[in-house]
Amino acid sequence: MSHRPLLVSGGWVLSVDPSIGDLRSGDVLIAGERIVEVAPRIEAPEAERIDARGMIVMPGFVDTHRHTWQTCVRHRYADIDPQTYFAEMLGAKGAAYRTEDVYVGTLLGAVSALDSGITTMLDWSHVQNSPEHSDAAIAALRDAGIRGVFAHGWPLVEGASWMFDSRRGHPQDIRRLRGEYFSSDDQLLTLAMAGRGPEMAQRDVWQSDLRLARELGIRSSIHMGAYARNSRVRAIAQMHECKALGEDLTFVHCCCCGDDEIAMMADAGVSASLGVHCELNAQGIGDIPLDRLLAVGIRPSLSGDTETKCSGDMFTQMRHAFAHYRSWMGGGHSRARNAPATVSMRDMIEFATIAGARANGLERKVGSLTPGKQADLILIRGDDLNLTPVSDAVGAVVLAAHAGNIDSVFVAGKAVKRHGRMVGLDVDALRRRAFASQAYVLGLPT
Ligand SMILES: [Zn+2]
Repeated sequence: MSHRPLLVSGGWVLSVDPSIGDLRSGDVLIAGERIVEVAPRIEAPEAERIDARGMIVMPGFVDTHRHTWQTCVRHRYADIDPQTYFAEMLGAKGAAYRTEDVYVGTLLGAVSALDSGITTMLDWSHVQNSPEHSDAAIAALRDAGIRGVFAHGWPLVEGASWMFDSRRGHPQDIRRLRGEYFSSDDQLLTLAMAGRGPEMAQRDVWQSDLRLARELGIRSSIHMGAYARNSRVRAIAQMHECKALGEDLTFVHCCCCGDDEIAMMADAGVSASLGVHCELNAQGIGDIPLDRLLAVGIRPSLSGDTETKCSGDMFTQMRHAFAHYRSWMGGGHSRARNAPATVSMRDMIEFATIAGARANGLERKVGSLTPGKQADLILIRGDDLNLTPVSDAVGAVVLAAHAGNIDSVFVAGKAVKRHGRMVGLDVDALRRRAFASQAYVLGLPT
């Protein structure tokens, strides 16, 4: 492996760092894991030069919530009642998941996230049927080479007892994981809790879960206000009442949460994660609350959620969030009071990068091309037919780019995709394992 610095040279740089801005033609110098310099032109004769002319160079995307274990049953649940998804995936199918299914699903989900330019992903893993299932998910994230936040959830064996007014505290195995895999916070993989909160657990239970996460020094991510029935619990108001809200929390969806609850989130510094494409597809989940979040100053992150009913790539999330907002703005429809009259495509890029880094607790490390941060960046081929001639790089990324346009992906200075292909990945072998796992999970003949 080369230890020479890398010079990514001559690309259209979207740094997402306000002190650097965009460079119509710029260089990014990388040494080891880190970004050293971002400037219009950098002299570095000792560096290995990567020609980025004709490309858009930007930070890797940051996904803040994905049920990666479900990847082998992709695209199966968008056309049917959402209850079927819950009943099957969080019921009998999830309970029957083997460690192999968790491993292959998580690996395939993570490498395809990387292929589409997502360099950091929070794996919202609520299939902890045994300690070995957790080990398998963590191994998959490690083997994928992604910057992963492993969000440890609960088992789906006896799943109802964990999800409906639960009296069972979060699995204590999370303590072992903290010590065994995540004793350092300065590594590619970090730990979070995929928590249940007041919508799923009794008050003393969710309070002790939260205490456990805080004792372990990790963040918690909790689904909130998806579907009207959940919003009736007024979970955020309950947490507010118990003084449990804090900056170490990310709430997912928030579609049906009250305006007062969203204001409580803002006051406490809680982050939000919008699984935009999934929310649009999930019949009855509620309207995407982007206007209501922005009205109180919360700039949300974006997420691929579950590929069982959406596309997990970040281009899709940005494009749909932008279109959803634009579709009503200026039309006299009543939206949240104090909501911005418009959002911009640049807002979408920020939601998909720096806002995600914040929500994953990694703002100091990733989310922008800033000297000193980790070298997590992507190169998008602006010369491809669907993007050329690029006149506005932000517009090209948000409106039209897709995973197939991504030439290169670097995580911590290491190439995981080059010249449009994943590095060192046996795609055929992975596909075979994915089909075999799918056949087992769905009960199909092999
Ligand atoms: Zn989710």
